[in-house]
Amino acid sequence: MKKILLVLGAGYSGLMTAIKLDKNTKQLDDVQVVLVDRNKYHQYLHLAYEVASGVKKASDITVPMTELLRNRGIQFVQATVKGIDLKGKMVKTDKGDLAYHELVIALGSEPNYFHIKGAETFSMCVSSVEVATEVRDKLKTIFAREKSPRIVIGGGGFTGVELAGEFAEEFKCCTTIVEGSNTLLRSWNIPAFSQKVEQVLTEMGTELVFGKFISEVKPDAVILNDGTQIECSLFIWTGGVQGPRVVSESGLKTGKGNRAIVNEFCEAEGFKGIYVVGDCAMVKNPETGEAVPQCIEIALQQAEVVAKNITADLAGMPRTVYVPKFSGLIVAVGENFGIGKIHGIELEGQIAQMIKRIIHLRYVYEIAGLDEVVKEKL
Ligand SMILES: Cc1cc2nc3c(=O)[nH]c(=O)nc-3n(C[C@H](O)[C@H](O)[C@H](O)COP(=O)(O)OP(=O)(O)OC[C@H]3O[C@@H](n4cnc5c(N)ncnc54)[C@H](O)[C@@H]3O)c2cc1C
Repeated sequence: MKKILLVLGAGYSGLMTAIKLDKNTKQLDDVQVVLVDRNKYHQYLHLAYEVASGVKKASDITVPMTELLRNRGIQFVQATVKGIDLKGKMVKTDKGDLAYHELVIALGSEPNYFHIKGAETFSMCVSSVEVATEVRDKLKTIFAREKSPRIVIGGGGFTGVELAGEFAEEFKCCTTIVEGSNTLLRSWNIPAFSQKVEQVLTEMGTELVFGKFISEVKPDAVILNDGTQIECSLFIWTGGVQGPRVVSESGLKTGKGNRAIVNEFCEAEGFKGIYVVGDCAMVKNPETGEAVPQCIEIALQQAEVVAKNITADLAGMPRTVYVPKFSGLIVAVGENFGIGKIHGIELEGQIAQMIKRIIHLRYVYEIAGLDEVVKEKL
């Protein structure tokens, strides 16, 4: 019987863990890496806003698993994870049970509506390429029906800003961002960048509402905490995410945002041989004590460390401590403006967009090789 190294989720962290594990265990005949995802493709989630606006098709930001795994020893199972039995070392899926020797949970995140009345029922979230496609289709119907529809975006973080930029540019329609704090991109904590983005979005025609919270979502309007009602044809929620329920229901210890608490090896606290990576893991930066941000760079770093640690477990060797490194982020506002900081270098305008694109292409090269990079539209 081969030892099954089971990876749940083929997003950024899961796919990279499986690729690195496969590479590290190539010489071991008694080991099989198995990767599970509900979709038969990997998606570039960070470009989903471009599918929502219709700039890109879903097929532009997805790569079939068959292509990604062609020359690799990874076994892929397309299935939806329904439960994780940690005592019985078994994962329940809609296609049957999967046993494992060591487990990596990389199931990303799901929207957190913070119990806002009507939000789950009447809003859309750009949380996957499938939902982004639904948003695009809904917008097409709205524009066919109405002359000047209004879109309201709840949350002025990265996703809200990137969506607003796309909508302003593609549809020239009225978009309103409602943000509870007094600034966009608050978690970034770089006031000069926030101000610049606010200025660019305002010039593009986006309305910004600060310091107010959404208290109710109706089919055709949102109500703010001061009683103001904003009529809208579509409400998009980008105000928060949380760890998937299937993870918290498994019995793993979870912290803020329902994310699984892990130790310095990215191993779930109190559960040997169960690793959690990416958005569903709660990792604290040992230097600051703060939770590390939920972003691609962090997800990929954790994948690398976990692949090393499982290989070390198999060989009875010491494991590697995960030390988060954050080189920076770039936010895109429409097709021509970007702003951010990478390795301490501040970037603004088209150069920022170009660097964001190069970072993306480097990732495509790493997971899929030169052929996929060539297929990418520049
Ligand atoms: C619109 C948008 C824009 C973003 N832009 C950026 C950006 O510019 N830069 C940046 O660093 N970050 C960005 N992010 C955040 C980034 O995408 C996440 O931090 C990253 O995807 C986390 O990787 P992950 O592997 O944890 O999860 P994911 O990449 O979300 O992967 C989770 C995988 O698990 C699968 N899955 C989930 N549940 C199940 C289940 N029950 N059964 C089977 N499979 C399941 C999903 O299909 C998916 O493939 C953006 C996010 C969004 C939504």
